Amino acid sequence: MRLFDNRYEPHQRKYTLALSMIERGARIRTVTQWTGLSKYCVQNLTRSYGSKTRIPCNRGRSPSKPAYFLKSLDVARESVALAYIALQCQAIPAAVVPDARTSLPGIDRGERVMDAFEVYRALLPEGLISLEYAILLIIELAERSALILARCRSCHDVMVADRLALHQELCPLCRPPPRASLPARPTERPRALLRQQEFHEGVEEDNADSTRDGHDENDADREMARGHE
Ligand SMILES: [Zn+2]
Repeated sequence: MRLFDNRYEPHQRKYTLALSMIERGARIRTVTQWTGLSKYCVQNLTRSYGSKTRIPCNRGRSPSKPAYFLKSLDVARESVALAYIALQCQAIPAAVVPDARTSLPGIDRGERVMDAFEVYRALLPEGLISLEYAILLIIELAERSALILARCRSCHDVMVADRLALHQELCPLCRPPPRASLPARPTERPRALLRQQEFHEGVEEDNADSTRDGHDENDADREMARGHE
C-alpha cells in the first residue's frame, strides 16, 4: 500500500495543484507552466471541473506589468501583505532568482504559491490581487530587478517599491500629494537605489539608515522627487 501511495503521489500533487489554480482563475498556460501538465490535460480538467466557487479564467496573456502593484494605495498595501505572506510561506525564495520566470515554476514552489495566496485570501476575502497578479508579484520579488521590498524613509514601514523609480524612498502614505502646476525639473536617480544589495529577510534595509551626522545625502534627491510629482 505504501508503494502504491508513493508511486502516484507526484501525479496526485500535479492534479491537486492544477485544480487549486483553476479554482482561483489561473489561465491554462499558467497551470501548464507550474504543474508540467499538458495543455490538453489542463483544458480537459478545466472543462470537467465543476465548482460553484470557481473564478472564471481570463483569456489572453498573463499580466506582466509590475507597475500594477504601485498604481493605487489599496493595491500597494495589499501587495505588501501578500509579499510578506509569500516570504513566510517560502513562495519567494530567500536568495535572488535572476531567471525566476522560467526557474520558479514547479510543483513544490507552486504549492507554496497557492498556500500564500490562500492565506492572503483568507485574511482578505475581497482582496484586490488575483492569482495571476499574485504570481507576477512573487516572480518580480524573486527576481528583484523591477520590484523590491524596501523600507519607507519616513515611516519605516515596509513597502513594495520600484527599484529604479524616483519615488521609491517614500511609501504611498508618506508621499506628498501631486502638484500638477509645477514644471518638471531635470532629475537624477537617487544613488542609493541603484546599489545592488543583499536582502535581510527579503527586505532591502537601505532606505532606513542613510541619515548620519545630521546630514542626509539624499535630501536633494528627495526634494527633486517632491518637485517632480
Ligand atoms: Zn511611509
